[in-house]
Amino acid sequence: QTEFGLTEALKNLGVAAENNGTSTGLQSHGGENYIESYSPVDGALIGKVSVTTQAQYDKVIVTAQAAFKEWRSTPAPLRGEIVRQFGQKLRERKADLGKLVSYEMGKSYQEGLGEVQEMIDICDFAVGLSRQLHGLTIKSERPLHHMQEQYHPLGIVGIISAFNFPVAVWAWNTALAWVCGDVCVWKPSEKTPLTGVACQSIIAEVLKENNLPEGISCLINGDYNVGSWMTNDERVPLISATGSTRMGKIVGQTVAARLGKSILELGGNNAIIVTPDADIKMTVIGAVFGAVGTAGQRCTSTRRLIVHEDIYDKVRDAVVGAYGQLRIGNPLDEKNHVGPVIDKDSVNNYNKAIEAAKAEGGNVLVEGGVLSGKGYESGCYVKPCIIEAKNDFKIVQTETFAPILYIIKYKGDVHDAIAIQNGVAQGLSSAIMTNSMRDAHQFLSAVGSDCGIANVNIGTSGAEIGGAFGGEKETGGGRESGSDAWKAYMRRQTNTLNYSTELPLAQGIKFDL
Ligand code: NAD
Repeated sequence: QTEFGLTEALKNLGVAAENNGTSTGLQSHGGENYIESYSPVDGALIGKVSVTTQAQYDKVIVTAQAAFKEWRSTPAPLRGEIVRQFGQKLRERKADLGKLVSYEMGKSYQEGLGEVQEMIDICDFAVGLSRQLHGLTIKSERPLHHMQEQYHPLGIVGIISAFNFPVAVWAWNTALAWVCGDVCVWKPSEKTPLTGVACQSIIAEVLKENNLPEGISCLINGDYNVGSWMTNDERVPLISATGSTRMGKIVGQTVAARLGKSILELGGNNAIIVTPDADIKMTVIGAVFGAVGTAGQRCTSTRRLIVHEDIYDKVRDAVVGAYGQLRIGNPLDEKNHVGPVIDKDSVNNYNKAIEAAKAEGGNVLVEGGVLSGKGYESGCYVKPCIIEAKNDFKIVQTETFAPILYIIKYKGDVHDAIAIQNGVAQGLSSAIMTNSMRDAHQFLSAVGSDCGIANVNIGTSGAEIGGAFGGEKETGGGRESGSDAWKAYMRRQTNTLNYSTELPLAQGIKFDL
């Protein structure tokens, strides 16, 4: 810890050995259950976080409701100013928070910093947005009438997030929700609770400095039980949930049953199509980073490489060769490319997936395996592996959240490749590596990729905050981050104003008294 300055980082972030897992200031410690957070990097216990009780949860919601009354009437650009100050604090704490993200989640330090940068970027985006949030004006069919559309704040946004982007996903939601006039209650993943404590303490500082109620940003902690209090709660009009498709199906149905709104950001099964004229060097970089970056634990990680038969041997050999260069180890050490997976359950899933692929006839090109010995004491370091497979293997149809890449051969034209790429239940990210303008446009057309993200000559992994982020089919259909994703955080109202002295009815209906 000392070697990487972690002790200092934890101190700067206000993360103690024992932390209050419910919004600071609302209640005290003592007598609660705790979630212990162990680092996948070295297996050490980093700290613990108290689990929110039902009574504390109720208090949080009441506090958030009271804060909403004040916040919704604060002019949007002033709300933007608070988000600007939050972004500024993140700039100051970037190295500390990046280290904690890396140590608690296991991604590389560069990726930890990148994640905090995403938070900063979405704050900048939201600040600009706070002077927009515009609706339309519409011509009325009635004389001396005016029609307009307005967007108003919704209320409490409940955020349920996954372990793999422990802080960025929260910020994508909150930065937009805050400028929209909403207040947020966040349940981070029970696998990364300390990053939640750190984020809450940064925003609490900003709110305090501005004499604003802390209820604008609330934190609760626990597993799916605590999450389900929110999904069942009519006081929470919008639930934004990021995680597995399994979770999304439960959350989506629960929220729909009370006619609440939800934004679902669920699993992916992302593929890169490689056409005969693709640039091999770019393909290798895109595929290898996509498959092994964050140890294959991004929702946009590359799981399938769909390669034309004419170029198949060349691409396969180049990718296999590149895997030989990968260094696996402590993610805080910048020399390493691949860190650990999140926990032992994840290691088990990885092992099971490799076995399943072999049982279905998969041909292992780069052997997997769990690493042991010095530097690998946590038991969470696995070797990225490559398996030649068929798209219809049961295991290829599912998302295994680990560094396993399936390589699939296609024959025929780009539509044959697109059929394979679309032939899974998920629809998050997709890519084509090609120098054919025709193939690229086919891929992006209505008969092309069915995913929420479709890239040309870029891998599947990672996205910029300026675009709307999310996917189709079992990925859940939600959109977050840029473009007009903010509209999901507001309620839309159509207004008609009559400035005449008559009361004409719409559709020419006569009603004379
Ligand atoms: P997970 O589904 O196990 O947990 C995600 C969150 O949901 C956690 O906070 C968990 O406590 C909560 N949860 C689980 N069941 C719940 C329930 N019934 N009610 C309420 N809350 C519940 O996912 P994970 O292992 O943390 O994350 C990995 C998954 O997340 C992958 O499938 C990945 O693709 C997906 N993901 C998707 C996106 C996206 O934007 N599409 C982004 C990141 C991660």
